[in-house]
Amino acid sequence: MAWNDEFECMPLEQMQKFQLAKLKETVNWVIERVPFYRKKFAEAGIKADDLKSLADISKLPFTVKNDLRDNYPFGLCAVPMNEVVRIHCSSGTTGKPITGPYTADDLDQWAECMARDLWAASLRKGDIVQNAYGMGLFTGGLGFHQGASKIGCAVVPTSSGMTERQIMLMKDFGTTALFCTPSYALTIAERAEEMGMPIKEMPLRVGCFGAEPWSEAMRDEIEQKMGITAMNTYGLTELGGPGMAFECEARKGLHINEDHFLVEIIDPVTFEPVAEGQRGEMVLTSIQRRAMPLIRFRTKDITTLTRERCACGRTLVRMDRITGRTDDMLIINGVNVFPSQIESLLSEIDEVVLQYLLIVRKKRHLDELVIRVEGKKEVFDAGAGRVAVVERKISEHIKGVAGLGATVELVEPKGLKRSEGKAVRVVDERPK
Ligand code: AMP
Ligand code: ZN
Repeated sequence: MAWNDEFECMPLEQMQKFQLAKLKETVNWVIERVPFYRKKFAEAGIKADDLKSLADISKLPFTVKNDLRDNYPFGLCAVPMNEVVRIHCSSGTTGKPITGPYTADDLDQWAECMARDLWAASLRKGDIVQNAYGMGLFTGGLGFHQGASKIGCAVVPTSSGMTERQIMLMKDFGTTALFCTPSYALTIAERAEEMGMPIKEMPLRVGCFGAEPWSEAMRDEIEQKMGITAMNTYGLTELGGPGMAFECEARKGLHINEDHFLVEIIDPVTFEPVAEGQRGEMVLTSIQRRAMPLIRFRTKDITTLTRERCACGRTLVRMDRITGRTDDMLIINGVNVFPSQIESLLSEIDEVVLQYLLIVRKKRHLDELVIRVEGKKEVFDAGAGRVAVVERKISEHIKGVAGLGATVELVEPKGLKRSEGKAVRVVDERPK
């Protein structure tokens, strides 16, 4: 049973009818209330009544991150400020943030989406959940908080950081579920082992991880180190935060809350829709939000969709885990490289742990990729010769599989800075 069988298991035809009605409502809503959209739609010569089917969404103009920046802070807000009850901001640290205003009803919708998400991850009343997502402007903390509260779990809002205290509380409270970024989960697991308090020996049984890209290899590592089931959850500030898409017990992709979000996958170069199953950039339209609904927002996140029947019984379309972002893609001497690709190649090397940093810099006229990755203790115990052998093994593996030349620097255990939130994996030192 899902949290909300009516919508999560709705037959496709019925869902699409619902979506079209909500889409039209939202298009009218923004045309009437947001000058930015009124102008854009007038220029494109489009009205809500021109939307005869969902496919007609392709006639509507895109919204991009810069539109949100240009209209900072509330230019895209479609309601008067006295109807706004919460304002979040994006986690980005450079320049002005992206603002996310909510009406009271928007907050209820968000809690509903998060409850579906956490219910699918097996959370129930009686669970003690430690919420180690950053609590504050970032949508992660409060988003998870509201969803777990709606289910009736006992929520411990630790926020991120103070890792030793997290571990102490986890043990003392008998925490059964953990919410945080996957990189912070690994930081917690490692620290707990150092403290002689392995998480495996605690009652923790499930983790709901997201807010940053992670691979199946990283999932395996977390599950194995913590002795838990690790579930993936996806969302973004612009669309209201986490809870947009979530994994069910089948763990074959993330179900998208389609009654709230219309999803398209486009070719990021031609902007044409790609066929089901093909990779492309995800474009999202919020069709029920009222404070700041976005029409055809280009997420820059790359994924695929499937409508194949899911074993769990939900009919909601599924997206694959995000494999990269168009703006995270590094172009190194003309070769397109995603950090996630390098992560999965590193995971195939037994002598390393999955803590790494990619540094790209100019060496004369060429780009140079330096991969700093932590080696296991036994490699360093065996001496410099062994370290050099492992470094060569890694660079040959990456060259062989990805055709990419890289300088590998093996770093001693714990030599790289640990993440408490979203991990920093890339430093691009090339002149812009
Ligand atoms: P923010 O708005 O700061 O929360 O960042 C949202 C972005 O984080 C998304 O556009 C994705 O790039 C990334 N993200 C969030 N959840 C996931 C996830 N489960 N897997 C991969 N990337 C994610
Ligand atoms: Zn499912």
